[in-house]
Amino acid sequence: MIYSNVQDMKISRLGFGCMRFRIDETTGEIDQRKVNDMFDLAISKGVNYFDTAYPYLNGKSELAVAEALSRYPRNSYYLADKFPGHSLPGPVDNIALFNLELKKCRTEYFDFYLLHNVTEWSVKIYEDEKYHIIPDMIEMKKQGKIRHLGFSFHGGPALLEEFLNRHEGVFEFVQIQCNYLDWTLQDARKKYDIITSHGLPVWVMEPCRGGKLAVLNESQSARLKEFRPDASDASFAFRFLQSLDNIKVILSGMNEVSQVEDNLNTFRDYDPVSEEEKAVLFDIAEGMKKGVPCTGCRYCCEGCPMGLNIPYLLECYNDYKYAVSLSASVRLDGLDEDKKPANCIGCGQCSHACPQGIDVPTALAELTQMYADGPNWSTSVQSRHESIKRDLNMK
Ligand code: SF4
Ligand code: SF4
Repeated sequence: MIYSNVQDMKISRLGFGCMRFRIDETTGEIDQRKVNDMFDLAISKGVNYFDTAYPYLNGKSELAVAEALSRYPRNSYYLADKFPGHSLPGPVDNIALFNLELKKCRTEYFDFYLLHNVTEWSVKIYEDEKYHIIPDMIEMKKQGKIRHLGFSFHGGPALLEEFLNRHEGVFEFVQIQCNYLDWTLQDARKKYDIITSHGLPVWVMEPCRGGKLAVLNESQSARLKEFRPDASDASFAFRFLQSLDNIKVILSGMNEVSQVEDNLNTFRDYDPVSEEEKAVLFDIAEGMKKGVPCTGCRYCCEGCPMGLNIPYLLECYNDYKYAVSLSASVRLDGLDEDKKPANCIGCGQCSHACPQGIDVPTALAELTQMYADGPNWSTSVQSRHESIKRDLNMK
């Protein structure tokens, strides 16, 4: 296993993400035996980082992780959990919710604790004084119940920079979605650079884009097999991330022993992709994109009579065009009503100004439709509100 040195810790570069455990179809419960088997194998080969969260698998991930890890000494692994600020029904007793997570995980402390899913929408909650989340988490850290405080992030680079500036010195690490497709599609490169410029280490989630980069189509896969005939598609995605020095933990949401085996093989030795391999991966990524080639130059913004943040909207458009996603919906939810794509009046000023020749009004009309048809965060969050109220005995 390859390790990262972070402060005084030696953390396995491969972290075990715990949101994709298999559910037994007959019982509707997590297959605990399989979780134990996967953890045993991972731990025997040096994995020492486990990442769960309050909402994962309807609250059952924390319990399954606790059960599997209860067979190991507490100081032999690092446990990460998250505060579900993005799912709160309103201001709640943050400490009670935090203590409930400790209880579910059968632990006195979390080695790593993250504000879960900071976006343009949820940041309003995380920074709202009425919610008092950040001060409470700082207090938990003072009491030793959080060893290292960070946040997971799904917003754009501008918010990331602002958030880090506003909370300089509070957070010790940042978890972002990063892989060779999102390097450009979701601006992961910019986010990586911003975090690095703040002197913080990067943790990565979705290294294979929800499994899509682990199962490429035949022609894409054949291009990779020219380099290594026996290597899995996923191994290239992981080795791309190994090539980035400031990525210290790469979380993989493993749910089969065979996946654990393949990943352990990839992380046995430091083995980053070569420049030739990287060029092919980026080329494959370009072929996957179906959106517009916006470079974010902002030449179009000044003349927009509606004051729309056009490159931001086009980032969401590109994300949707690749695959319908909740993260793009949530980013649009975070905008004021008069800044949403539906406010485009189709005047075409932006397209004249655009050096890339992008037909912005058409893209924004399509985005408006995709947003209306896409996943609705407010509906999915409703059930989370209910479960938090139930767990905290709130009316
Ligand atoms: S077409 Fe829409 S986005 Fe472009 S300048 Fe006009 S109002 Fe703004
Ligand atoms: S001018 Fe074109 S490339 Fe530049 S930000 Fe606007 S849409 Fe994107």
